[in-house]
Amino acid sequence: MARFLYRDINNISMSGGRARVYCPECPYAHKNGMVLRYRYVLWKAGVEIPPGYNVHHKDGNRANDAIENLEVKSSAEHTREHHTGKIVSAETRAKLAQRKRERIVTAATRAKIAEITRQRERGYHGRLL
Ligand SMILES: [Zn+2]
Repeated sequence: MARFLYRDINNISMSGGRARVYCPECPYAHKNGMVLRYRYVLWKAGVEIPPGYNVHHKDGNRANDAIENLEVKSSAEHTREHHTGKIVSAETRAKLAQRKRERIVTAATRAKIAEITRQRERGYHGRLL
């Protein structure tokens, strides 16, 4: 379960620099009824967040959920956005490639990953395991 640092009078919970609001009818809500506020804002504005897409905060502040600060991006594009300009040494690149080759994913792990992906698509970003 997510641990909230505080819950204010407007029923906004903050965790990991992100705000959540209680709105069980929102399609992006977790089963406890909480939804990431930026997803809620987009839903209210009629903007769809397709599965496999993330919400990017243009100013880098995940607590700034003003609609003009939000951008829906594919996961790949979003990852690229956050890693552009990052300097990775040849040694680190080789290590990462080696680790990727050696990775063994069991059926149980694949099932866990699928469950996490499903939860994330519903807007839940807390701890699941
Ligand atoms: Zn982002």
